[in-house]
Amino acid sequence: MFITAAIASPIWVKDLLAAEKDIIIGSDEWQTFVDLRNRLRRVKKVVGYGNFNIISFDRARYYARHYAVIGAFSHKELDLAERLFYEDPKKYGFFGERICDSITETIALKDVKKIPYTGHYLFKGKPMEDYFRLKKDIGGEIILTSGVRGIVKQMSLYVDKIYGCKGNISQASFSLAPPGFSYHSCSDFDVGKRGWGHKNFTAKFARTKEFRKLRKLDYIDMRYTINNEEGVRYEPWHVKVI
Ligand SMILES: [Zn+2]
Repeated sequence: MFITAAIASPIWVKDLLAAEKDIIIGSDEWQTFVDLRNRLRRVKKVVGYGNFNIISFDRARYYARHYAVIGAFSHKELDLAERLFYEDPKKYGFFGERICDSITETIALKDVKKIPYTGHYLFKGKPMEDYFRLKKDIGGEIILTSGVRGIVKQMSLYVDKIYGCKGNISQASFSLAPPGFSYHSCSDFDVGKRGWGHKNFTAKFARTKEFRKLRKLDYIDMRYTINNEEGVRYEPWHVKVI
């Protein structure tokens, strides 16, 4: 009865086939995955939201070893973190280019600047100039919602996203670049409308007047347009530094 119903419904069969192709964290690894996620969250709690944006993997491990409240990363967690970093995400349907080659890559403090009242950093030079210039051109309502992200921060966002997708890495990679593949670690940043919270990271942002003004600026561009080649969802809020 169940099988007959499935065959009679082409949509259901299509969903099943799509789901079969997706890569999902196996049940044997689920506990390690959850442990890794929780440990990264504890690192964030100890070092603080702002610092967590730019902390290196080695530094995170140092804090984990020295703060009992975090506890050292287990070998299994480190193996999983390395796999998530070094694996070729093409098999998840993500086709963006690799930005960082090493999981231990660091961000030099002298290269970034903390942007007041945001909890975020920007790279000095063109990214920071672009941000302050677009704020002037668009007006006071536009704010930085995410700036520089080191490997640890991107890893943490990535495992949170995978967790939210019930372990489905393919699904997660559609809405977040894997660690090592995010332009947030070299130049790009996200903007939003003040007070809009989570809505800033939805297509709704594209309907704001701030977005319309943003699109008219010729010194920046949009990184993830509709149906982009990288295989990333449409992200009107993500500013491509050119
Ligand atoms: Zn972004």
